[in-house]
Amino acid sequence: MADKVYDVIVVGAGNAALSAAMAAKEISESVLVIEKAPEYFRGGNTYFTGGIIRFAFDGIEDIKKIIPDMSATEENSIEVGKYTQDEYYDDMMRVTHGLSDPELAQILVRESLPAMEWLQKNGVRFVLSFGRQAFKDGDKYRFWGGLVVEAVGAGKGLSDQQFDVCKRQGVDVLYSTQGVNLLQDEKGRVSGLRVLGPDGFEDIHSRSVVLAAGGFEANAEMRCRYLGPGWEMVKVRGVPYNTGDGIKMALDVGAQAHGHYSSCHAVAWDMNAPAFGDRVITELFQKHSYPFGIITNINGERFLDEGYDFRNYTYVTYGRELLTQPQGLAFQIFDEKVKHLLRDEYWIPQATMVQADTLEELASRLDIDVEGLVKTVEEYNAAVRTDIDYNPTVKDGRRTEGLALDKTNWAQTLDTPPYYGWAVTTGISFTFGGVKINPRGQVVTNAQDPIPGLYAAGEMVGGLFYYNYPGGSGLSAGMVFGRLSGTSAAQYAEALKD
Ligand SMILES: Cc1cc2nc3c(=O)[nH]c(=O)nc-3n(C[C@H](O)[C@H](O)[C@H](O)COP(=O)(O)OP(=O)(O)OC[C@H]3O[C@@H](n4cnc5c(N)ncnc54)[C@H](O)[C@@H]3O)c2cc1C
Repeated sequence: MADKVYDVIVVGAGNAALSAAMAAKEISESVLVIEKAPEYFRGGNTYFTGGIIRFAFDGIEDIKKIIPDMSATEENSIEVGKYTQDEYYDDMMRVTHGLSDPELAQILVRESLPAMEWLQKNGVRFVLSFGRQAFKDGDKYRFWGGLVVEAVGAGKGLSDQQFDVCKRQGVDVLYSTQGVNLLQDEKGRVSGLRVLGPDGFEDIHSRSVVLAAGGFEANAEMRCRYLGPGWEMVKVRGVPYNTGDGIKMALDVGAQAHGHYSSCHAVAWDMNAPAFGDRVITELFQKHSYPFGIITNINGERFLDEGYDFRNYTYVTYGRELLTQPQGLAFQIFDEKVKHLLRDEYWIPQATMVQADTLEELASRLDIDVEGLVKTVEEYNAAVRTDIDYNPTVKDGRRTEGLALDKTNWAQTLDTPPYYGWAVTTGISFTFGGVKINPRGQVVTNAQDPIPGLYAAGEMVGGLFYYNYPGGSGLSAGMVFGRLSGTSAAQYAEALKD
């Protein structure tokens, strides 16, 4: 290894990194992936995802490009609608308060379908996301929220399939090896990486480096420093390895810090989930069906509009909001009427769940203030506009009226036992702050000058997500900018050989 000069070194082995490695290997001969985790823990946060990817499409014909083996029977049983590039772009801007970097957002939107087709052609298989993104409406499954497709085998499947492609292509992978700092030549070009592996420190030389080492969500000190007090105590939904190393390595060579450092992606997560992600349960500690019930704190008080929008557009901000409540705890409460609408994750045996025939019993067993919860539910029930039709597949406008905090869609009275309650807290998924890249995936300085030989992708790129993100855009950004950065890094490496 000491004398070898790789064309491209990719740091990390999640979706962004492996997309970069696959793209680089299409152009360059020698591509090396450096992964901090041991092989049995490979895949980064990508492994923990539901594998749902957001991309723009113009109708069923585009979906069939991603799932070419879809049967006629299946095609006739679904209504996917369309999710245009304009809609994707509008969603990006809407949920980020118009702050998403327009240039990067346009690339994300424009390249999302081509990147899906590229993954598919390379052998990554996808299926329709019936379980999470479709409702039966008459004899059709109707998809909603712009999300239609997930990787076969979810995040684990996506990760395994990408490793298979890399292996087939001849990409080298070093596990249990941590990137420590970037090497630069006398001209300031990035010329490799200092790593710490099972045999100690080593310098590995290369013509270019793509950093795709995730955010800083697993670093309690950085969470507290950037996200604020209290964040050091939240649960981490994914790997313990994403400790901001890639961001720090880039900043050390002059990269521009970019994006919403004080915000992150977080969700309602089971109160008794472990400190870091569980490889078996993966994302199933999440609780995303709250639009069909109410959420209270330990005093039995509601504190947000559960029906403000489809959960894809609220679950991130609401996940963070839980941390503002006493003890950082909240409770999602439903009755028998909506039980069939709750996602599968609610029924895993590890969930902190109580079923009871009365609200009093439910409150007391979950340690919620009994009087507080009963009062809240009585007032809420009295305020539901039962004259408006209930329809979970659209924003139905069936709301409460007259409460200090109304629920503005999907309001149903809570009056049909048994009642169900789940205890949740904040689980962090990934951070929004990172480094700035240009449209070629090059990491740039404050003066917007590219740092020669340095590229970045994935969670550690800042500037795309502010306050919130449209569900499924994390994987989308990883594959689009991973592919872009890998391609650019390899082109740069080839040009150096001339
Ligand atoms: C539970 C959960 C569910 C999610 N569900 C979805 C979903 O359904 N759809 C969606 O779009 N997004 C989802 N997300 C977000 C999604 O995981 C991320 O946006 C995406 O996986 C990030 O990809 P990445 O390649 O940038 O990072 P990762 O997949 O986390 O990969 C980063 C890699 O870098 C490695 N690394 C870190 N430091 C070093 C170092 N110093 N040297 C070498 N390697 C290093 C890590 O070990 C890791 O393997 C979810 C996140 C979580 C946690």
